[in-house]
Amino acid sequence: MLEVRNLSVDYRGNRAIDNISFSIPLGQLVGIIGPNGAGKSTLVEAMLNLIPVTQGSVRFKEKFLKNQLLRTSYVPQRSLIDWDYPARVWNVVMMAQTVQTGLFRGFGKQARYSAREALERVGLYDLRNRPIGELSGGQQQRVFLARALAKEAELLIFDEPFTGVDRKTEDIIYDIFQELRSEGKTLMVINHDLGDSLAVYDRLLLLNKRLIAQGSRQEVITSDNLERAYGRGLARVFA
Ligand code: ADP
Ligand code: MG
Repeated sequence: MLEVRNLSVDYRGNRAIDNISFSIPLGQLVGIIGPNGAGKSTLVEAMLNLIPVTQGSVRFKEKFLKNQLLRTSYVPQRSLIDWDYPARVWNVVMMAQTVQTGLFRGFGKQARYSAREALERVGLYDLRNRPIGELSGGQQQRVFLARALAKEAELLIFDEPFTGVDRKTEDIIYDIFQELRSEGKTLMVINHDLGDSLAVYDRLLLLNKRLIAQGSRQEVITSDNLERAYGRGLARVFA
């Protein structure tokens, strides 16, 4: 299980997420939805110990997640990535493995093999020597997906991976999510689109500062819940 208990975060006195609790069985594909500013990014950053929390705990397989971050892989929101950083595709994928292999021992054969396999899986091995800044938005997102694959993490978290991505890339990403899930990995995917794509998730968490609803799509996507999360206008469109 992945267990989040009573998690709250304040930014200079302003509460961004309030007393969030949920449990997820391992091996699920979980969608996190909610309006802009709902605290979706804050929730995952707090889970990964990237920002200080006001209260609460996060456990993965009964131990604190913050002590097992090597088992996790996180792809932040596009806007948080420095796209001008002059790294080549190959290096971005290899960097994911630095922690495991140890910088000073250099990259072993296994690390190179994993990087190659991951880039082939997302269809970008041929572009491995390109600077990442020269790729399209969809290709860039696939590079970060490859980086997450190469790390062989058990818990993978993606913050709005479909933003600025073309349809073909979206399909590739969904296919890989399904494959990872069938390998028993746990995935959490932040999504602010409420379209048909929600059908792929085993479970949804609907957020607006507090956890408004969780469960299957049928349980979560009700006009009542949507109204509480998004206000009246949008709720009418989607329910
Ligand atoms: P979402 O990802 O759902 O759009 P965020 O987690 O980014 O929401 O933000 C939740 C709330 O916290 C928003 O009101 C946002 O303005 C605020 N916030 C986010 N990051 C910071 C920060 N570093 N400093 C201060 N306030 C922040
Ligand atoms: Mg966000």
